[in-house]
Amino acid sequence: MEQQVNRHPGGFPVVGIIGGGQLARMCQPPAVGLSLTLAVLAESEDAAAALVVPEAPVGAYDDVETVREFARQCDVVTFDHEHVPAGVLAALEADGVALHPRPAALRYAQDKLAMRERLSEIGVSCPRWRRVDTAAELAEFGREVGFPVVLKTPRGGYDGKGVRLVAEDGVEATSDWFDRAAGAGLLAEEAVDFTRELAVLVARSPSGQAAAWPVVETVQTDGICTEVIAPAPDLDDQLATVVTEAALRIAGELDVTGVMAVELFEVAGDDGPGYVVNELAMRPHNSGHWTIDGSVTSQFEQHLRAVLDLPLGDPRARATWTVMGNVLGGSEPEHAELYSTYRHLLARDPGLRMHLYGKEVRPGRKIGHVTVYGDDLTDLRERAAHASGYLEGTVTE
Ligand code: ADP
Repeated sequence: MEQQVNRHPGGFPVVGIIGGGQLARMCQPPAVGLSLTLAVLAESEDAAAALVVPEAPVGAYDDVETVREFARQCDVVTFDHEHVPAGVLAALEADGVALHPRPAALRYAQDKLAMRERLSEIGVSCPRWRRVDTAAELAEFGREVGFPVVLKTPRGGYDGKGVRLVAEDGVEATSDWFDRAAGAGLLAEEAVDFTRELAVLVARSPSGQAAAWPVVETVQTDGICTEVIAPAPDLDDQLATVVTEAALRIAGELDVTGVMAVELFEVAGDDGPGYVVNELAMRPHNSGHWTIDGSVTSQFEQHLRAVLDLPLGDPRARATWTVMGNVLGGSEPEHAELYSTYRHLLARDPGLRMHLYGKEVRPGRKIGHVTVYGDDLTDLRERAAHASGYLEGTVTE
């Protein structure tokens, strides 16, 4: 990036985002509102954010010199994903770049083993877990906690890739994963018998101000989140308080800056419902997309405020219920032509909020989401499911 970034007059900062995916893209509307300039280091010219952010040099997030050059143009640097290697982060830190979240916090979102270790240290409820280096160690863990067990690659997983359920007679077949782990170890966990999956989204600024959105329920289909309901229906008040406090405590203990999502499993207990933490994400998260339309301050605006150490906005919901439906790429070729679906959907439901990411349609890929809000949860869920299904091509009228 040789040219100087075009800043708005009036002393407004440039926020750099490493990665040009949909999260960076969804930061652009609030950046416009706050008169901030965004710059994204994009994977390609047609990356989701590069289509809407003028300052979008194409470059590799794992190349130190490329990232350093990008960061020189920015007042603060944050992330669209968690894959920036530790060596690149260390170089930026050594250059004095204001990075949020800071690498010392980010590592707990990059590495599930580091996350489990740290959460256990600070006493946050987790599934029983162990680092395992061989199939024999996995078998021993399984005998202790009971089969099946869950085996995870500590780094680089998403949408359930890098997670597998292992039965007792399946232990032998995991040897390829141990080979690929190349001595870095894998994470073994007990298979939690959960009643549902929840998520808590919080934001924390460098000076320590924090805010939490209502706890949501996330519905997964085949390992991919398909629906988010805010707030989580029939959630026990005390559990809502406990998990929100836990998320704020994690953010404080780990010195998280920016938005953090804590994914949880709700479990039934003798003294009422309880929880265990599944994983952490330190960036705006799919479980918080509902906040764009459903809350006073969206997670994307809050993330920008937080990384700039501006006062945080009000995270309260605007309506009794908000339902977000993810839109996945359909398998029928005619559904690659998404614009042709608009007329029908917009006419059918004027209250529908659509957010498409400008991505090429590929089967199963997250290409957008829809949101509806109001008082009648059953109606909202039907409308969100209809719109997602219509965009995906599984519903035809
Ligand atoms: P990813 O990083 O790919 O999103 P997760 O760790 O969130 O992977 O796991 C993906 C899904 O697998 C979860 O949403 C949950 O449904 C299931 N899962 C993960 N860990 C466990 C566990 N310990 N017990 C039961 N189910 C689990």
